[in-house]
Amino acid sequence: MDLYEFQAKELFAKHGVPTQAGEVVRSPKHAQEAAERIGGLVVVKAQVKTGGRGKAGGVKLAATPQEAHDRAQDILGLDIKGHIVHQVLINPAADIAEEYYVSFLLDRAHRTFLAMASKEGGMEIEQLAVERPEALAKVAIDAIVGVDQAKAEEIADAAGFDASVRDQVVEILKKLWDVFIKEDATLVEVNPLVKTPEGLVVALDGKVSLDENAEFRHPDFESLVDDTATDPLELKAREKDLNYVKLSGSVGVIGNGAGLVMSTLDVVAYAGEEFGGQKPANFLDIGGGASAQVMADGLEIILGDAEVKAVFVNVFGGITACDAVANGIVQAVQMLADKGEPVTKPLVVRLDGNNADLGRQILTDAGNPLVQLVDTMDDAARRVAQLAAQGA
Ligand code: GDP
Ligand code: MN
Repeated sequence: MDLYEFQAKELFAKHGVPTQAGEVVRSPKHAQEAAERIGGLVVVKAQVKTGGRGKAGGVKLAATPQEAHDRAQDILGLDIKGHIVHQVLINPAADIAEEYYVSFLLDRAHRTFLAMASKEGGMEIEQLAVERPEALAKVAIDAIVGVDQAKAEEIADAAGFDASVRDQVVEILKKLWDVFIKEDATLVEVNPLVKTPEGLVVALDGKVSLDENAEFRHPDFESLVDDTATDPLELKAREKDLNYVKLSGSVGVIGNGAGLVMSTLDVVAYAGEEFGGQKPANFLDIGGGASAQVMADGLEIILGDAEVKAVFVNVFGGITACDAVANGIVQAVQMLADKGEPVTKPLVVRLDGNNADLGRQILTDAGNPLVQLVDTMDDAARRVAQLAAQGA
């Protein structure tokens, strides 16, 4: 889970990393009031979970509360690499003498942790790594030992920090390591870490990704979850405990079991090539027990996506037999009609496995013209791609 800058800085402060406290606001008026409280020069910063905000016009200085109001007005609503700005952070502006870079991350390729540090922060680190790799120090960290005094000194010296800031950087590295370990992060990055003209080293920006697998150890993670950036259908699916992923295509896909759904995506994409490049619109795994309610929830979510022109229900009956799934589909269609949201798009159903014949019989008897039975996965994929092309 990626955090916003302001959340990352809250974790920094909690572990003693020097950073400025600020206020997060959602309107120009509140930005003005925050700037009044803070006093003096402030910086108005877009809160979006992507980098390069500065370059995109999402970070602006403001000398007066009125200016803070105006800059917030400019920044709120901006689209930064597909992320709409809903909130801005108002920070006291720092004077910058030098900009540095430090980070800790999980180095999957080497199965260890990695520290990176540079005296040349501020710019995009990917660019620095390509253009001047010698300016970016990389130091492997033993997971058992972690970042102790010696390791922190090794990192600071590898990056060549000046004696005037070395001790501060070493202290900050140890505390950032605390953030990394104690908060179960997979990334902690500060770009820029700055030196002020007075010689103080401060984290001016922060990027933290938390390991969701460690959620059970951190009841407070929940308060960091932010759904404004989540697709509304994905939210609805999560509420119903369904595994739904929005893709961009025209064929809705429902299946039981992640393996079957994934191969269904491939088969649909392959068949879709013949029909003008029809692609799967989503991934929806209804899991093991495909009851009428689960099927109705699944169909409701899939049909809620306006891009969907046809739906492929691909079920392999196991413990939940195909007759139960077929009854689920019939009842789901009825439930949606009763709710005033009748199904209007074609459903192609492929049933195989336990009680497949009985399941097919149930659907045939129900006689809904929108529900088409196809016996094999490949033929069903062709049929649904064709219907999606016709509906487009
Ligand atoms: P990013 O572009 O998303 O990484 O956002 P940053 O928080 O790193 O800000 C981008 C740049 O804006 C920094 O590298 C600084 O040069 C500048 N900046 C950010 N905060 C301040 C500040 O408090 N004072 C000054 N003078 N510049 C700032
Ligand atoms: Mn930055």
